[in-house]
Amino acid sequence: MYSYTMLVNKKNKLKKELDIDLVMVSKRYSLKDIYLERKCRNAFNLMASKAYGRGYYLIANSGYRSFKEQELEIKESIENEGEEYTDKYVAKVGVSEHHTGLAIDIKSGDTSPFIISREYLWLKKNAFKYGFVLRYPEGKEDITGYNFEPWHYRYVGKKVAKFITKNNMVLEEYIEKMEV
Ligand SMILES: [Zn+2]
Repeated sequence: MYSYTMLVNKKNKLKKELDIDLVMVSKRYSLKDIYLERKCRNAFNLMASKAYGRGYYLIANSGYRSFKEQELEIKESIENEGEEYTDKYVAKVGVSEHHTGLAIDIKSGDTSPFIISREYLWLKKNAFKYGFVLRYPEGKEDITGYNFEPWHYRYVGKKVAKFITKNNMVLEEYIEKMEV
């Protein structure tokens, strides 16, 4: 069932596409057509405009992806990077969080790696206030099944984002704790 805390990962695969209220991210904060679930999109637009007002330029680099788009991504990666790389770094169809419309890859206004950008540091401190969490942090690889991705954020809503961030958790841990 669709929810803001729904878990899509290597162990929780979507069997079919979700029915999502998708809307486009403001072109002020994206360089191409990027769609996100409506509340997630509104939260991102707000976060990006607040950041911009303080001198940080957040750009949406990837949002919702259909099964077909993920298939294409895999195909292109195999062609460009080879099968081994693709197996390791590109999510299979049905297990990418980008299928939910609640995941967003963010880049900064400059070309240096995101990890050393001012925007990354700003997000680290502020993303939770807008309902986002850093989804694949360093040190949680065994739990998330993904390498550290400083650019990948997940909308979970403000209350949950605050709880997860303050307790240094990831979504998997939050769900496990809440179900006990
Ligand atoms: Zn991503």
